[in-house]
Amino acid sequence: MARYSRNDQAGVELPKAKLDRESIRQALELFRYLRPYQGRFGAALAALFLGSLLSLAFPYLAGSIVDAAVLRTQGGGSMAGADRTALLLLGILALQAGLSYFHFLSFATVGQRSLVDLRRDAYARMISLPMTFFAQRRVGELASRLSADLIQIEDTVIGILPQFLRQTTMLVGGITLIAVTSLKLTGIMLVSLPVLTVVAVVFGRKTRKISREAQDRLADTATIVEETLQGIVNVKAFANEGYELTRYHEGLGKFLVATLRGARLRAAFIAFIIFALFGSIVLVLWSGARLLQQGEITFGELTRFILYTTFVAGAMGQFAELYSQLQKAIGATQRVRELLRETGEVEPLLGPAPASRLPRLRGDVVFESVHFTYPARQGVEVLHAINLAAASGERIAVVGPSGAGKSTLISLLLRLYDPSAGRLLIDGRDARDYRLTELRGQMAMVPQEVLLFGGSIAENIAYGKPGVSREEIEQAARQANAHDFIQAFPEGYGTLVGDRGIKLSGGQRQRVAIARAILKNPAILILDEATSSLDSESERLIQEALETLMRGRTSFIIAHRLATVRHVDRIVVIAGGRVVESGTHEQLQALTDGLYRRLAALQFRE
Ligand code: ATP
Repeated sequence: MARYSRNDQAGVELPKAKLDRESIRQALELFRYLRPYQGRFGAALAALFLGSLLSLAFPYLAGSIVDAAVLRTQGGGSMAGADRTALLLLGILALQAGLSYFHFLSFATVGQRSLVDLRRDAYARMISLPMTFFAQRRVGELASRLSADLIQIEDTVIGILPQFLRQTTMLVGGITLIAVTSLKLTGIMLVSLPVLTVVAVVFGRKTRKISREAQDRLADTATIVEETLQGIVNVKAFANEGYELTRYHEGLGKFLVATLRGARLRAAFIAFIIFALFGSIVLVLWSGARLLQQGEITFGELTRFILYTTFVAGAMGQFAELYSQLQKAIGATQRVRELLRETGEVEPLLGPAPASRLPRLRGDVVFESVHFTYPARQGVEVLHAINLAAASGERIAVVGPSGAGKSTLISLLLRLYDPSAGRLLIDGRDARDYRLTELRGQMAMVPQEVLLFGGSIAENIAYGKPGVSREEIEQAARQANAHDFIQAFPEGYGTLVGDRGIKLSGGQRQRVAIARAILKNPAILILDEATSSLDSESERLIQEALETLMRGRTSFIIAHRLATVRHVDRIVVIAGGRVVESGTHEQLQALTDGLYRRLAALQFRE
């Protein structure tokens, strides 16, 4: 019977690997995660092996009971032997039950524990990877694939490997004991079973190909759901529920066609297996009956033989399925291993980072002939020869048309990417010479769209500096003009926000982000101004909070609304990836044909 793994239902296609020596060797690398638990793992393997051997004793002893009974009906022997054997069998079954309990629990314990370690490492590696990694992949897909891969590995350690060992023991032991019982019958069986196995493997391959297609179609529908839910506001605003439903329904239709085709094949496969398997047993039974009648074997031997044959046939039937599962598992380990092998930009740590040894930066920032091309879009240079110097404590507004390269410039400052040519100097030192976590430890960003994590408001503010006291949090909130609105909630700072909590307004979220940045006390500050304008009261509160925040720090403000940048020290105008103008509001306004002047004129006319 086909065994469905949870991944099939998750609609995530798993890669299959060839079971060649290299991929097996690489997959075994992951076994180092079992090392801390190797004692228990070894004991579980031993219990499993012993349990399988004991299963093999069952047909033998059952045969002996039959023989004793037959002898008795013919007037010879006594039933005492049969009684003893039956008791022995019961004892063996009890022992086997105990061993099963032990190995099942042990494989589960060892498997889950080592998987927790593996999951932790994979996650740590993933979040430490540079932006280039994320830019080239769809993050949602990455997360779901990773979790599917890990579930597959989990299935392997807990289910497939033990099964593999058990079935191998049953197969080898079964055939040996069959041969000992009757060589003639073994010959008959060995002619029919391999044919059966070959057909089963060929059939199985075809079914899997079709079921893979069904999984792909299911994954397509999952993507539709994901896209719809992510853009649910748009869907509703355009009243496009019907359109989305049609799209989903069509996707489901394709899935249904593929899955039913698979089901038909699978049904035929199962019918064939049942017929052929029982057919071969009938054949053996029939030949056995003749041998029995000719006096070549006893009743007990025939019983043994039939029981062993079912064992061997069962093991063979399982092998095809197990082989396919193993292939999947090795494919899954491939991606996890690739992930673990990627080099992160920072060393992943469990727990908070150790205290930085970097003294407080002054915050001098210099872009020196910086050129930049996104790794994902080679051939298109986004920034060309940017020269820009910001002295400690200076406020620089970066303005320019959409797509000019403002955000890109800031990404370089945060070292999400490094310049393709030229240098970024911070306090006179190449930014690449700093340890990344230490450097970012002295920067803070208030983004356009503030993302609050699931948790309390206090926890969200403390994100800037984990482990701070409640007083510090409140003080930062006060400076960010956030204290009053937070206090107004019945649960105050303990109010839950994020997916499962309440929703804060855009202006409130920004003030939480400002409090977060105040708490972090950075030397360099990045403000990505929200494009949407707020009502004048929130605007005033935010502006005030930002003033407090910017005091004494080098600040870069990506400004979309020019009204807010009149009072900065310098405005840098970027267009087409170049700095085209630079100066104070007054200086730039004085340039008769300047871009800033034109942009400002456009905005103020609105
Ligand atoms: P806006 O004001 O609209 O946010 P911007 O000035 O911040 O625009 P950037 O986001 O820096 O502009 O984009 C500059 C150019 O780089 C654009 O042409 C954009 O398509 C491209 N770009 C931005 N991010 C990436 C990326 N991750 N990979 C490839 N190209 C990108």
